[in-house]
Amino acid sequence: MASFGHVAVGLLTGRLHGVGGKDGGGGEQPGGGGVGRRGISSWRTLALFAGLALLPDADVILVALGTCDRGACGHRGASHSLLLALAIGLVAGYVARRLKWPVVRTMVATTFAVASHALLDMLGAGGRGLPLLWPFSQARFMSPIRIFPDAPRGLALLSRPGVINVAIEFAVFLPVLVYALWPRIVGWLPARAVERAIPKLPSLTFIDGGPAPAPAVSDDRDPPLRSAG
Ligand SMILES: [Zn+2]
Repeated sequence: MASFGHVAVGLLTGRLHGVGGKDGGGGEQPGGGGVGRRGISSWRTLALFAGLALLPDADVILVALGTCDRGACGHRGASHSLLLALAIGLVAGYVARRLKWPVVRTMVATTFAVASHALLDMLGAGGRGLPLLWPFSQARFMSPIRIFPDAPRGLALLSRPGVINVAIEFAVFLPVLVYALWPRIVGWLPARAVERAIPKLPSLTFIDGGPAPAPAVSDDRDPPLRSAG
């Protein structure tokens, strides 16, 4: 399959991981579990998990550099092993501990992001089976249900079959992408559109049906707003 589905699932994992900037716009929050104040993952976190979901296909670089395209070193070889995904998750847990991110959550999210690549590849119509249990087994697995047409590689992706494949993936994974980026999408919407989308609460009324009085206004000026830190 092409890469759009992998990226969408990686972004989804990044959102669920929940490590985000203080204001949803940037850096990680040191300590405190690494969860952003508004629960919005930073772009850096989203990009990191999207990259993890694409990581197994880095084996094409080795093939381009001249390694044998067969066996564990070739494309769709050891890099697509679930055990390798677990190993990368363990390394991520160690790094998370140093960064004061949630260790277990980072391990699980990283393992899922990397392993999702092979699981999605198994749904592709083409390509060889995947050695999910490498190095303990050389057996190659493929799903009996293969719903995604095989995408051509390189510039051939811009060909008609390649574009059709990408379009199918886009249609299937668009809901995943929208959910993954939803907090960001809401931030991009004009404030008036958000207000219209959110139903207004009914106004309070007294028992006799009269309108609620306006709240008493103090002569004192409001105290200056304090920074939330
Ligand atoms: Zn792959």
